[in-house]
Amino acid sequence: MDAIMDKAVHACRICQGDVKYMGATDFNKSGSDHFEGRRVFPPSLIQVDYYRCQQCGFMFTPYFDDWSDKDFERQVYNNEYLKADPPFAGERAARLAQFLTRALGDDLRDESLLDFGGGEGHLERLLRRQGFSDCATYDPHHHANCKKPSRIYSLVTTFEVVEHVSDQHNLFKELCSLVAPNGSLLLSTLLQPRDIEMQGVDWWYACPRNAHMAFHTRRSLQHVLQAHGFYLESLSDELHIAFRRPNAVSNRFLSLGAASVQVNDTICAD
Ligand SMILES: [Zn+2]
Repeated sequence: MDAIMDKAVHACRICQGDVKYMGATDFNKSGSDHFEGRRVFPPSLIQVDYYRCQQCGFMFTPYFDDWSDKDFERQVYNNEYLKADPPFAGERAARLAQFLTRALGDDLRDESLLDFGGGEGHLERLLRRQGFSDCATYDPHHHANCKKPSRIYSLVTTFEVVEHVSDQHNLFKELCSLVAPNGSLLLSTLLQPRDIEMQGVDWWYACPRNAHMAFHTRRSLQHVLQAHGFYLESLSDELHIAFRRPNAVSNRFLSLGAASVQVNDTICAD
């Protein structure tokens, strides 16, 4: 291990705990492979290393650390990216819009909403159609919505964003700064399975072709949110609500419990 690599991985990026090498996987392993039961892209010549914290369980790769937006556009979010995303990803916005509409009901429809990382604003459009008039999209990496909002929101959502970001503390600092004092943050990211030590980098969600670089346990997610003054409640292994203090919106999601919505559909899995 050379000195630069050692510097990048010598401690956990969430809690500073000791990290362990988990192995390497082919850059072209994609999220679709698991659902299609085959490799969608041909093997590449690049191996991507993953590490895991021995304290909080956070798992990550430093591989993308120095990538620019241009690098991501060329090598990940290019015209073949749709092939890497699991088959249900295209319907995700519709499913989430339906879920949010049902969850917030008529009484919370006037709450202000921000979808963080929502690309060109598909979810926002669907929510507006359902009568949510105070909603917006912010996506630092999408030209149409890259202007940072100068206000705060009752509910900030961020779906399937966390695992694509290298600097987690910075991401959560930004997310939390957009949430009103009495507001909530609703996020999805799939937590590691119980047998992650056995699965290692073979876990389907550890797919470099999708730029999946950061994977939480409940403990690591709690740790990073606590650092920004938020409590965490998980509604399922993939959907989580965070807040500084319980409020109308967080209580609503908590009352729905685990069966609220599926973000990473497993209907195609074995
Ligand atoms: Zn850690």
